[in-house]
Formats: sequence, C-alpha cells, structure tokens
Amino acid sequence: MNFINRLSKSNVAEPLLQRFLRYVSIWTTSDSVAADKGIQPSTEQQRIFAEMLAKELKSIGVFDVTVTNHAYVCARIPATAGLEKAPSICFLAHMDTVEGVEGQNVMPLVHKKYDGSVINLKGNIKLDPAEDIYLANSVGDTIITSDGTTLLGADDKAGIAIIMTGIDEIISKNIPHGQIEIVFSPDEETGHGMDNVPLDWFQSAQCYTFDGGQAGEIEIECFNAYKAEIQFKGISKHTGTARPDMVNAVSMASSFVQMLPHTERPETTDGKQGFYAPMEISGHIENAKVVLFLRDFETDGMQKRINVVKQLAATIEAQYSGGSANVKITQQYLNMLQKIQKQPLVADILKQALKNVGLEPIFHPIRGGTDGSRLTELGLPTPNVFTGGHNFHSKSEWASLSQMVCAEETMIELVKLWATKKIKLFLLS
Ligand SMILES: [Zn+2]
Repeated sequence: MNFINRLSKSNVAEPLLQRFLRYVSIWTTSDSVAADKGIQPSTEQQRIFAEMLAKELKSIGVFDVTVTNHAYVCARIPATAGLEKAPSICFLAHMDTVEGVEGQNVMPLVHKKYDGSVINLKGNIKLDPAEDIYLANSVGDTIITSDGTTLLGADDKAGIAIIMTGIDEIISKNIPHGQIEIVFSPDEETGHGMDNVPLDWFQSAQCYTFDGGQAGEIEIECFNAYKAEIQFKGISKHTGTARPDMVNAVSMASSFVQMLPHTERPETTDGKQGFYAPMEISGHIENAKVVLFLRDFETDGMQKRINVVKQLAATIEAQYSGGSANVKITQQYLNMLQKIQKQPLVADILKQALKNVGLEPIFHPIRGGTDGSRLTELGLPTPNVFTGGHNFHSKSEWASLSQMVCAEETMIELVKLWATKKIKLFLLS
C-alpha cells in the first residue's frame, strides 16, 4: 500500500501516535440508559476527557475554547490574515466509546513494522491477516491494538488525535486558513450525540466528521432509519378455562416477528440492502409490544417497509379475532445523501483532498447513522472521513498509524482547499 511507505517520512506520525495512546487510555465509555433518560454527558468520565482536550487545545494555541454544560468541546480558530472571507469549516469527532465491550484500563500495544503474522492477544483474541484483508495489507505498518481485555477505542479517539494533530500542525507551521471550528462531542455511541449540540454556536456551513475506517473511505450516504412500535392487545383469561375467549398478545407478537421477511434481517443483509430488525419483544397475555428498527437507503424503499409493517399488523389482527395491533412509526434519522448533494462542493472538495494526498476516494455507504447524519439533517452537510481504525466495537479493534497519518494529511488538504476555493464558492452561492 502506498501509504505505508510515507510513515517514515512523516513528521506527524510520532506526535499522532503519542496523542492516540494517551487518549485511548482514558476511560470514556458512554451509558445508553442514562442517555435515554436525557442525561448528557451520560457518564462523568466524558466530561473529564472534555476538560483535558480543552486544556490541550489552549496549550497548542487555540484560545477560543469552551466546554458546554453537556460536555461538548467547542473551539474556534480565527482565519489567518487575508482569508477572513474564506468559508468557515468545522471538524467533528466523538469522545465516548461504546458500552458492552470493556473500555476501562485500555492498555494499547504498538506493533511496529508489523510482520504479517497472527497477532495473539489476551483472552484468546486473535487478529488473523488470513481473515482480515486490511490487516494482511498492513505489513510494514505500525499497528495498534488493545491487550485483548478491552476494546481499543480508535472509534473515535483516532478521530480526535487526527484533528488535534492537524490543528497543532496548522498553527505551528502557520498554514494559511479560513476560520476553523472544532467540536468534540459526547455520547455518539448511544445515538444521542447531537441531542444538545449547541447549533447556534456554529458559524460554519459545512462540517467533516473523522469517524471511519480504511484509508480512502468516505461516507456521504447512510440509512434512512425509522422505528416501529407495535402494540398488541389481547384478552386475558385463566389458562384452564381460556377456550374460546382468550386472545394471547404474546402469541400475536411472536407471530408478527415470525412473519417478517427472513431474508431481510440485519444478519442476512449487507451492502446497500435494507432490513427489518426486531430489537425488543415484551409483554404478557393482555399486552405485548414489539420494537422494530426499519432501515433502507431509499425513500420509497422505506415507505414500502412501513407499509409492510402495517399490513402484517392488520393480518395479525385479522387472525386473532378480538385482539388489536397498533403501529406507531417514528423517524430516527434520514439518509444524508440528498442534503449533501444540494451542496456538492462539500463532497467535491473532500474528494479532491483525498486525491491530493494520493488516495483514491472510496464511497462507502454507512449501514447506520452517525453524528454527521444528524448534523446534516440539522442543516450542516457533514460527510464522514476515514481514520484508519478497524473492527470497531470489539476487543480485536485495531488502528493503522500510516492510515491515521493519511487522515491527518487529508484534514490539512481540506483546510487548504477551502481557503483557496473561496472565489468559486462565492460565484456558486
Ligand atoms: Zn464512532
């Protein structure tokens, strides 16, 4: 891979690595139960990390830095002389790591000049290049893993290290730039990452998240996401004398789940296929509930899925005479593609930035949503950029230093391109 060679020539590789190692060792696991109750940050550890990042930003010469009550780090760097009219751009990464995989006491291991062999970690965790093409392609690279007892936290501390190092380089080398904004956010993994984002604070009309995978991958498209809650109402009767009056809501709920198309589940789909994901089933004879996530890249595909859910509920209602099935649909987030396409420069400049650092842009549809998709919906088109992290949300998570370097170089290119594209932008607007 062409990007591994540049590791030895890069003067940001070492500071980037040191920052990354420092960040991953800080415990910032988020808590979805607290986040669902509206508590933000969902864990106090995230606030400690936020304060630490704010302090570090100040130490590298960023003076306009605040940590909000909800632990968002918001920083603004004024344009250099002569570029005050260039468009302002924002960079975003999240501070929390996912719950469900141990995130405390992360002990990162640095595998310098990776030799292509199987990496054995504690607890029988194996990273096998025979099963991981990206790892197989990383011979000679510097690879970072956990010791096997925790996740690594490259998701998304790689993003934070990349942005922090990029800012450090811009300031220390006096690289001309328009206004730059930086946001480090809490609770992305709980789905509440943008709940309290200070929208009024932003002066940028475009943003880039650094929260992705393999070098070259950029994400401007994600699922449309809806939640369906189906409430089944039955009729309770003593089981000994139930015939013929009982209508069992538990049976209704389970029949409903069984009728969903088996080939359209999360575990039987990939790429651009959508799905129905039963997330929760609960209840008793009188009342039962099914929570279903609906995902589809296309708007009309999503409408079809909603119709299918309603039809199936009606079928169940007809089969269980006396019972009822009520469907409630709520929107979770929307595919960001359409809104990003309305301001094509945001993605065009990103593509150019990748080319300038010698990477071929790979458009990777996100089978989920990100803070970027929420932010896009809120009015700031926000594509997602790779960070060089792999196997997110697992103890076999690993990061590639050369790919992190590429991401940092991409960030610098974005800054340069937005600073020089200003005239074209003004003509377009
Ligand atoms: Zn992430």
